[in-house]
Amino acid sequence: MGDILDDFRRSLQRNLQHYSLFTLKSTGEYHLFKAHKNFNSECMAERESECGQVLLADTEIASFACEEEESARLKMARIGRKVCGNCVATLYAS
Ligand SMILES: [Zn+2]
Repeated sequence: MGDILDDFRRSLQRNLQHYSLFTLKSTGEYHLFKAHKNFNSECMAERESECGQVLLADTEIASFACEEEESARLKMARIGRKVCGNCVATLYAS
């Protein structure tokens, strides 16, 4: 009986997850980071990219910040090939 509720909670969490996209300084490639808004409504990204290959400290200017999953997908699709394939794949997994 708990399964439906668990599924619901999981999907809710997924929908509330936000993402930011940053450029890696050395290559110009875009990488995706999980992000959330802090108490001052500033967007805070995680230290490591979704593909696990890039640290936030090595990136510069965000192309978008704290977008919801669906919107992040659309924006990344628009940017196209310069977005890290492994980062994109994490959005389509599970
Ligand atoms: Zn990546």
